[in-house]
Amino acid sequence: MKLLFATNNLGKLSEAKKILPGFEILSLKDINCNCEIPETHETITENAIEKAEFLYKKFQIDCFSDDTGLEVEALNGAPGVYSARYAGPQRDNNDNMNLLIKNLENKQNRNARFHTEIVLIIKGIKYQFEGILEGTIISEKRGTNGFGYDPIFIPKGYNQTLAELPTDEKNKISHRAKALQKMADYLILK
Ligand code: IMP
Repeated sequence: MKLLFATNNLGKLSEAKKILPGFEILSLKDINCNCEIPETHETITENAIEKAEFLYKKFQIDCFSDDTGLEVEALNGAPGVYSARYAGPQRDNNDNMNLLIKNLENKQNRNARFHTEIVLIIKGIKYQFEGILEGTIISEKRGTNGFGYDPIFIPKGYNQTLAELPTDEKNKISHRAKALQKMADYLILK
């Protein structure tokens, strides 16, 4: 079965291919889609729906999209849907982490979670899958693996940041892996 994934991110693609070995996972590049996919909403769920619906309407192919946010308890869920552009439109990981560290400077509560929503559309019908990774934010960056906020996020039950964990280890526990696994379980049992 062919499934279009609304991404060109190679890390995400290889993660999805590993979790869905029986499926042919296509990237946007594979179908020559250079389109600007809209992401105009204020929740990650609405953005994931918008992306999947956009692709399904345009290409009439079974597809799925993901959207992720880092939700920090002491900041009432920020940066959330704005995680990629928290410190501005330049979407710079270091700027984003520096701003988050600054905004948490005097906060005791360091709890945070990564939250992924995946929206799958098969034959026009929508399905939703959620993945959560709980953890804490530290105020110095540690590690060089991964991307985004990985150097300042320690998953619950670990001493290392996500950027210190080997990629395979992160991919076993990540918010995205959990949502992808729920989708895989659904597709395999279907
Ligand atoms: P996206 O929806 O996957 O593009 O994620 C939005 C933003 O959330 C990214 O630009 C990152 O800043 C952050 N993010 C998403 N997933 C991760 C992750 O696995 N580790 C660290 N940051 C992430």
